[in-house]
Amino acid sequence: MGQPSRSGIVSRSNVNKLDVPLSPDTPVEQLPGIGERRARVLRAQGICTALDCLLNLPRRYEDWRVLSNPRELRPGATVTMRGTLRKVAQRAMASNRKLCLMRARFECDGTSVPVVWFNFSPHLAAQIPFDCEVLIHGKVAIGMGALLQIVNPVVEQFSGEEALSLRPVYRVPSTVGQRTFARLVSVILDQLDGRFEGAIPESLRRSSGLLEPIAALRFVHRPPSSANLEDLMFGRTAAHQVLALEELFAFQLALHLESRRAAQRRGHVLPASDGLSQAFLKSLPFELTNAQKRVLAEIDVDLVSGTPMNRLLIGEVGSGKTVVALWSALRAVECGWQAAVMAPIGLLAEQHYQTAARYVEGLGVRCALLTSAVTGKERAQRLRDIACGRAQIVFGTQALLKDSVRFTKLGLAVIDEQHRFGVFDRARLKSVAPNSHMLLMTATPIPRSLALVLFANLNVSFLDEVPAGRARVQTRIVPESRFEEVESIVLRRVEEGGRAYFVLPVIGEDIASDDELDDEGVASVKAIAERLRAGKLSRFRAGILHGRMAQRAREATMRAFREGALDILVATTLVEVGVDVPEANAIVIVNAERYGLAQLHQLRGRVGRGNADSDCILLVKDDACEQAFRRLSAILRSTSGIEIAKADMELRGPGDLLGSRQSGALPLRFARFVHDAELISQARAMAHQTLLRDPELAGPETSGARRAVKRLLAYGFSLADVG
Ligand code: ADP
Ligand code: MG
Repeated sequence: MGQPSRSGIVSRSNVNKLDVPLSPDTPVEQLPGIGERRARVLRAQGICTALDCLLNLPRRYEDWRVLSNPRELRPGATVTMRGTLRKVAQRAMASNRKLCLMRARFECDGTSVPVVWFNFSPHLAAQIPFDCEVLIHGKVAIGMGALLQIVNPVVEQFSGEEALSLRPVYRVPSTVGQRTFARLVSVILDQLDGRFEGAIPESLRRSSGLLEPIAALRFVHRPPSSANLEDLMFGRTAAHQVLALEELFAFQLALHLESRRAAQRRGHVLPASDGLSQAFLKSLPFELTNAQKRVLAEIDVDLVSGTPMNRLLIGEVGSGKTVVALWSALRAVECGWQAAVMAPIGLLAEQHYQTAARYVEGLGVRCALLTSAVTGKERAQRLRDIACGRAQIVFGTQALLKDSVRFTKLGLAVIDEQHRFGVFDRARLKSVAPNSHMLLMTATPIPRSLALVLFANLNVSFLDEVPAGRARVQTRIVPESRFEEVESIVLRRVEEGGRAYFVLPVIGEDIASDDELDDEGVASVKAIAERLRAGKLSRFRAGILHGRMAQRAREATMRAFREGALDILVATTLVEVGVDVPEANAIVIVNAERYGLAQLHQLRGRVGRGNADSDCILLVKDDACEQAFRRLSAILRSTSGIEIAKADMELRGPGDLLGSRQSGALPLRFARFVHDAELISQARAMAHQTLLRDPELAGPETSGARRAVKRLLAYGFSLADVG
């Protein structure tokens, strides 16, 4: 934790060696300096090829351009200095004997400044270059005796003036390390220089006066000293624009090609009737919202149209998407077809199944649940039921897409939280049942006007109304040291007959590996559960839920919480998506400063689903910085997913938008779609022009475009049809 943020302080790797010529598609395994282990962790983060390395933009920069004077240090400042380090002492840390505490003196211009490293691995400590000319970069803090000191600095041997530059800091696993990754990016940039074809055809690029894409990438990864740091951080440079435009251009092309293809497919006609689907609506204990009614009507039109439905339902957290899903499934069943409802995690599939058991089985419809927790004879039986058509609505996870699952007559499929599914899953579904209707559902906040442009190949419906009479959720930020107050608030809620979540993050800044993440999550879940047992809430029943538990145990715990056999659930972010327990009236999010706002919004959506007033407590580290508070206050101010997403983007740099989590329903990495309306229309015009000249993208001028579209498909563009 307190370890210097970047491993490989003085590491030398063989990154400069290279025997194979690189192409953008060279797999990471074949890149210099990347062995099997590093390749594995990079892949886990979605970095699979040389190009992916380049597209992994720096998440921030360190400014090493200006050398500071050791006589003019201010606490809190981050400084770069040139001088010599003298070792003073090294000993084991009291808290962890495997790590050490090291002290040194930094000498420069006849002054000396104390330097200290906490929780330092002795292996790295041995590599620090003492007694020679070095650059150090680190934070100034007030140490013992009110003396200023430099804490956990990065050190490197002074190699010349060019070291005084803006340096990228990447989101890479610590097994790879910043230095290795930065050097790798340099090698790739050099290798691909002059051999990298962007998506936008050359002539169009020139006439639009755009930078070459490789030059744009170089600018972002290796900014010149003259670059404006703030513009870089917030993605406001011409280079960023080019990258966004390249991406949006390919995206627009893909949309056009996709709609052309979709128009040629035939779909089953499911004539409207007042059978099961109507009976279901009548059995609900509530009135549908107007938005729900409108969406049902929109879906009805698709189902009788003769072309397969390809509809994306964008619905605010808690807007009641499940009702729409079940109604659609029943529309298929009443016309003699089977329906599948898929969710990204078993917990959610089971929850949908239980909802169906409550409302749908009473109508005589046979439902089946198929998750990885269903095994042995039971599984075999359910597979038979699916194959012979006995199971009319099947609930499950990706497991439904396995070869062993055969539907006789799949008429309609619903994919809940679709952004959590890989493109492979969606493509597989399409190949299992090419003519069946598809309803994709997501809570990813995308403004309507942009969604219509971005998903021009789909029909889009919006559930923009939360059922009336919903409880109020009071959100507040509380520092960790006031945990007892939090216990009191939760105590009150549980005594009112409610239930409470404690949620813990499993997201690290430098993601090491999924395994390590899980371990961290498990440890903190257990620690909180322990603490609750010792405190005011000890007389209530608490359960724990994390990724390391078997699917069966997870489902059992969740069921216990839902049914009230547990009052408190201490969980990792497994409960983030879709979990619906109307009685839950308190959620405590531990280390809230570590989450994105959109994720916090999702988590907060777990309470206030019934009609009991609820509390959402964002528990933050006592020393959480001001910026963290500013970010979190956006969530106090708003309950609209879209507004929160906008605020999130304004507060983060573009690097933070990368990665599959943030991209949500969109396969876009660079386009900040909330802001880039102008770029979108430019990209659209360019795509039109290109397709007019070359409708099939078959000519030599469009070879880059063709490849970019293909990559986009691989990354997860197509919501319907791949290849
Ligand atoms: P989400 O859109 O987040 O998936 P759910 O479908 O889980 O939301 O619905 C949230 C809760 O709201 C559920 O408990 C559901 O029964 C309830 N609900 C759905 N539609 C309505 C409605 N029209 N009026 C009142 N409650 C509703
Ligand atoms: Mg849901």
